[in-house]
Amino acid sequence: MITSRRLDASTHSSFDAHEQVVHFNDTALGLDAIIAVHNTHLGPSLGGCRIYPYAHFDDALYDVLRLSRGMTYKSALAGLPLGGGKAVIIGDPRSIKSHDFMARFGEAVESMGGAYITAEDVGSSEEDMISISSTTTYVAGLPQTDPASDGVAGNPSPVTAYGVYCGLKACVKHVFGSSDLKGRKVAIQGLGAVGYALAQYLTKEEARIFVADIHPAVLERAKSEFGSLLTIGDVSSIHTLDVDIFAPCALGAGLNDRTIPEIKAKIIGGAANNQLAEAHHDRLLVERGILYAPDYAINSGGITSVGYEYFDRTGRNPYPYPLTRTRMNDHVEGIAKTLEKIFSLAKSEGIGTGAAANQLAEKIFKAAPSSAQVRIEASNA
Ligand code: NAD
Repeated sequence: MITSRRLDASTHSSFDAHEQVVHFNDTALGLDAIIAVHNTHLGPSLGGCRIYPYAHFDDALYDVLRLSRGMTYKSALAGLPLGGGKAVIIGDPRSIKSHDFMARFGEAVESMGGAYITAEDVGSSEEDMISISSTTTYVAGLPQTDPASDGVAGNPSPVTAYGVYCGLKACVKHVFGSSDLKGRKVAIQGLGAVGYALAQYLTKEEARIFVADIHPAVLERAKSEFGSLLTIGDVSSIHTLDVDIFAPCALGAGLNDRTIPEIKAKIIGGAANNQLAEAHHDRLLVERGILYAPDYAINSGGITSVGYEYFDRTGRNPYPYPLTRTRMNDHVEGIAKTLEKIFSLAKSEGIGTGAAANQLAEKIFKAAPSSAQVRIEASNA
């Protein structure tokens, strides 16, 4: 049986006026989860379910509060009528998961009454979403069941990669005057679901890629696929290479006091969430003359994908067009325009691009528009 208890996280350092933080337990199944809803001004909160063996409950709480807040900012900037929320399950995904376990987590999601919609994240898969969908409809990232459909469904990672690719082209144009990637050097940290797909987009345009990953198998695959366009780098020094772009696609907090002085790239843009270890690192990047594409602005392809899928499946299309894959790709390509707005605001205000992105996102979600149309205009402006 699942039990729930509302947490008062108001004194927590990462609390940012979260609307709800709920702790769920099922001792028989070993389920220990937290769902945090940061903000629902723009719509129900949508964010992935992270399954991770946190050493302490407080580490899990810290993560879910930061991640759910990030989702509010991400969806707002992406022009989606969605709020920010996230779930974490404490445990090793390799041993803790089963159909019943994930279905029980679905009951936790269901009990939030639609304030929170779940999807994939680190440690959770499409298969898990299917289990979750046996107990709640508040779930996205489900696989496509109709092969003939042009609708959006499934693992959002390829769409995230497409968005990062579009965003990087905008960055290259901003810095070098042309969005052509041929011959540009890009260091990719982490060749996982997003990093690998990004490498495919970049090499199609004959960019030269330098990659590092802790898993040798993925590097072997890359060697045979990318040939002479690929150079294998070292995990500890991939960020120091003399390249045009550094693309963090592994872990968060990679931009910090130690790494920033070592970065030679003119541009930083990648999929990883929470790349800046602390807010002041935004300023440090400006001082080093590095153009930083704020993580939640450039990696919003994934939330756009699961958002479109959810709107479609539940018959709640907020847009005046059908929710096809083509329309979704058009929407994701809007990341380039959003980044240009961020860069221009940062320049005019003399602030970092991270601070500029925050300003733009807050303007959207704090205004609490009353109709989806306003939000669509925000995304197309
Ligand atoms: P993933 O787990 O598939 O890939 C991460 C890769 O990074 C793995 O191959 C791993 O071996 C490698 N890695 C781990 N530590 C490393 C290190 N120190 N140096 C180099 N490589 C290392 O994850 P993903 O889905 O590709 O996501 C990548 C990042 O992007 C994550 O931070 C994730 O939160 C973020 N993100 C992903 C999506 C998405 O749609 N998948 C959306 C938004 C943000």
